[in-house]
Amino acid sequence: MRKFAIAIHGGAGTILRSSMSAERELTYRKALEEAILAGEAVLMKNGRSIDAVEAAIVSLEDNPLFNAGKGSVFTHDGKNEMDASIMNGKDLMAGAVAGVQNIKNPIRLARAVMEKSEHVFMAGLGAQEFAKKINAEFMPDDYFFVQHRFDQLQEAKKSDTMVLDHTVDKEKKFGTVGAVAIDAHGNLAAGTSTGGMTNKKHGRVGDTPIIGSGTYANNKTCAISCTGHGEFFIRSVVAYDISCLMEYKGLTLKKACDIVVMDKLVKIGGEGGLIAIDAKGNIELPYNSEGMYRASKKQDEELYIGIYKD
Ligand code: ASP
Repeated sequence: MRKFAIAIHGGAGTILRSSMSAERELTYRKALEEAILAGEAVLMKNGRSIDAVEAAIVSLEDNPLFNAGKGSVFTHDGKNEMDASIMNGKDLMAGAVAGVQNIKNPIRLARAVMEKSEHVFMAGLGAQEFAKKINAEFMPDDYFFVQHRFDQLQEAKKSDTMVLDHTVDKEKKFGTVGAVAIDAHGNLAAGTSTGGMTNKKHGRVGDTPIIGSGTYANNKTCAISCTGHGEFFIRSVVAYDISCLMEYKGLTLKKACDIVVMDKLVKIGGEGGLIAIDAKGNIELPYNSEGMYRASKKQDEELYIGIYKD
């Protein structure tokens, strides 16, 4: 039996201590704790990493604090178009959805694509039809209406640019959520879910649902979930690049993360971060932005929660 471990994120960006009240910080900390405990509960019962990843992400999707599921940001047209993906490191099976609307938990839909369809990636109306077929849970528009997100859209529209979560507060924040885990059987899994970026064009898809960019898991190397300015993460094929550096160059997880997040991404202007776990249970939580909502928990060790640069 191996020791299990899990890590989660709730987005990266300009998250400054100075612009956060103690009360608000506590709310975030509690939300992160709740989500990681939901994942850990699965692993403690000898459960599978893929189930732990799904459980942690569902908890974050149901929380309006984060830009995924209920708290998803608005597109330019005032809609919520969500992206999600999940991958199993044991058999390299993966599932992803892009541009789905009114789906309560897009990560569950991504998993259903992996397990109940012959496809890996479904988008838009086809993904919605598939969701109906498998009886996914749909929610009305008002479930996804969060005043704060709506205000962000109005602000973003003034500058006519696609902006990041929380620009209203003069913060740049990517509130995407994700989880990576290793279970007692030594299997890795990763998942990511997002509403994307405020004021994005109808049909814009970020890195989150793209296997190899926003999400990747391979038992030989690592499991990765990203958050940041998606366009840069797609062009850098971030998650797979880290896995490749480990597989083909024999680098450690830490070294591979350093190269990709702190050097390669920075050079092309790609702001953000990721959570990573390797086949030995080592965890890395690198980011090149001001902060990243993050938490990790290894079996028999204390829970770690971080927001700012420590
Ligand atoms: N990566 C996401 C996207 O570009 C945004 C985020 O991480 O918050 O859609």
